[in-house]
Amino acid sequence: MEKKLSVVVSVYNEEEALPLFYETAKPVLQGLPWDYELLFVNDGSEDRSSEILDRLAAEDDRIKVVSFSRNFGHEAAMIAGIDYAGGDGIVCMDADLQHPPACLPEIVKKLEEGCGVITMVRTRNESAGVIKNITSAGFYWLINSLSDVKFEANASDFFAVSAQAADVLRGSYREKVRFLRGYVQNIGFKRAAIEYEAAERAAGESKYSIRKLLAFSVNTILCFSNLPLKLGIYAGGLAALLGLAVMVYTLCTRQGAPSGYTTIVILNCFMFAVLFLIVGIMGEYIAILFHELKDRPVYIVGETKNIRRRPDGESGG
Ligand code: UDP
Ligand code: MG
Repeated sequence: MEKKLSVVVSVYNEEEALPLFYETAKPVLQGLPWDYELLFVNDGSEDRSSEILDRLAAEDDRIKVVSFSRNFGHEAAMIAGIDYAGGDGIVCMDADLQHPPACLPEIVKKLEEGCGVITMVRTRNESAGVIKNITSAGFYWLINSLSDVKFEANASDFFAVSAQAADVLRGSYREKVRFLRGYVQNIGFKRAAIEYEAAERAAGESKYSIRKLLAFSVNTILCFSNLPLKLGIYAGGLAALLGLAVMVYTLCTRQGAPSGYTTIVILNCFMFAVLFLIVGIMGEYIAILFHELKDRPVYIVGETKNIRRRPDGESGG
């Protein structure tokens, strides 16, 4: 039987980019040696995206649509796409043509060679400014120094997995606070990396704000590293050493009682700062635990088009 490629596309308010995406992707998909399905995950778009997707789905039953009941975020959209995809290989990509569909034939080739995980590595990001590129490099440096698992810098959320690797993602890694790209890079299997040039966004605007990116980075670091939790131990050790030094100094110089006021104030402020920082970090971890404990759904599906098979644990994950 002919193999099938599932292309998962996350869509949030992409009315301008969607037609362009479809026009560009269609000829590439038709030229593939595999059959295909184009699975759009509509992440609660408020613009005309739903209309456009409904129209496309009505014309061609290889176009499938999973619509969320509201906006759940890009990662949730990719997770839902993987849950619903039925192909022998699954590609996740953006709707704004920053992830060129022209890479699909090469991805299929790698899948045919038996690769389980194919990371798409960005060589250049046209539209991201200098600041975004620097912060992104800084983020990868930080997480790679803090975490046991290693992340490929410049790995984007453009990636492909085999059906076997997708099953791993469907069955586990269902954390509520998560970093899908990180999981994909750490489930093992035969891997390949393909380089691509990120193009300018085809139309519309980036849906990620700096605030969202910052929250995302902090969560990712906390999810993949326990090192910040150990800060307390290091700070405690340092404070003990410092205390010892001050004690020895005081004993040796036999300072009179009234002097040393400044030292006390400075030490106090410093110690409290460290203490509050550590309490804050612990608070962040507790917040994540609380979030996981509540076990709320990763996404809720409102309606689907051209989809027959329902994944297990649908509307939850
Ligand atoms: N997206 C989504 N849900 C969101 C935000 C974004 O599904 O809450 C989609 C968006 O439609 C696009 C992809 O995720 O297809 C990447 O978003 P965007 O291009 O805005 O991010 P950037 O490329 O600027 O990092
Ligand atoms: Mg984009």
